Amino acid sequence: MKKKIILIVIMSMILYITSCSYKQNNGADKKISKSDFMLNTYITITLYDTEDETLFEPIFDYIKQLENILSIHIKTSDLYKLRENAGKEYTKVSDETIEVTKKSIEYSELSEGLFDVSLGPIIELWGIGTPEERVPSKEEIEKALLLVDYKKVKIDEEQKQIMLEKEGMFIDFGAIAKGYIADKTADKIKELGIDNAIVNLGGNVLLLGTKSDNSDFSVGIQNPEEARGGYLGIIKASNLSVVTSGDYERYFEKDDKRYHHIINPFTGFPSDNNLKSVSIISSTSFESDALSTTTLLLGLEKGLSKVNNLDDVEAVFVTKDNKIYLSDGIKDKFELTDKKYKIVN
Ligand code: ADP
Ligand code: MG
Repeated sequence: MKKKIILIVIMSMILYITSCSYKQNNGADKKISKSDFMLNTYITITLYDTEDETLFEPIFDYIKQLENILSIHIKTSDLYKLRENAGKEYTKVSDETIEVTKKSIEYSELSEGLFDVSLGPIIELWGIGTPEERVPSKEEIEKALLLVDYKKVKIDEEQKQIMLEKEGMFIDFGAIAKGYIADKTADKIKELGIDNAIVNLGGNVLLLGTKSDNSDFSVGIQNPEEARGGYLGIIKASNLSVVTSGDYERYFEKDDKRYHHIINPFTGFPSDNNLKSVSIISSTSFESDALSTTTLLLGLEKGLSKVNNLDDVEAVFVTKDNKIYLSDGIKDKFELTDKKYKIVN
């Protein structure tokens, strides 16, 4: 009997050792990465378990192709055409534009109008993050606000066309496009035969699969006071997307006041509540991106209760006085690393 137990112990030790060396040989370090400047930000694609650098070309080409459809800054894009035809007629658009517009309107409804994809004229007026950034006059804001109303964005799904009902209106997908593109890029990566990858579109992170040894990726939750990549805590996750919205991302300062890039469509001014940032963790980047902007606009109380009422969505809220509020499902998964912050719930 004793001999049998010893044998089992030895056998399991051998098994353990071989599984460890298997992990080391095929381990987490077998990956390739490539970065580029696209979507007005730095993007990095990391592919696990491959050395085939030629895979990057179709991936980056695909991201560019989506940008060409969805960016208001590109003159041949669907959004640009919609702007030109605003107040005049319906415009045929791609499936991608229909999909992102539909999702945006869902979030407008969920946020009682705080998330508004038709905010283009106001965003352009402020020009935050561009050489033209400035504080507009009250009159300018009032005038531009007359052109903002997501209810005037009409989608004809059958004919695949969209119309902006008032001349001068235009759509800006800045709050949602990176999330959509991250999910589509992950699909492309899977099509190319890769199961495990990280898609990082300027901090909009999607974790596809797991690391090579089947363990979770560690992903940092952005520290709103540090340059991109600095984190305040980590979570371990796989098959998830983490997206942060905050007042630190694009802003300028004038007379000691910070003017950031997420704007309240009711006032025409940058959203002003007790939040510094919100990170959303969910299974799709589309949802994480839309919801991080939405919850930042909603503020702590409403935002947190929205997240707690959604299945499979978690969040880390950071307030201006460095307090962290976690959604119910993430409390045992989040590890705080920057002690300047305090978890309070
Ligand atoms: P980031 O672009 O930094 O990742 P977000 O996803 O939060 O951050 O999106 C911010 C962008 O969304 C702005 O730069 C602007 O283009 C757009 N935007 C700003 N305010 C709103 C709003 N209330 N509703 C919809 N889009 C907005
Ligand atoms: Mg967003």
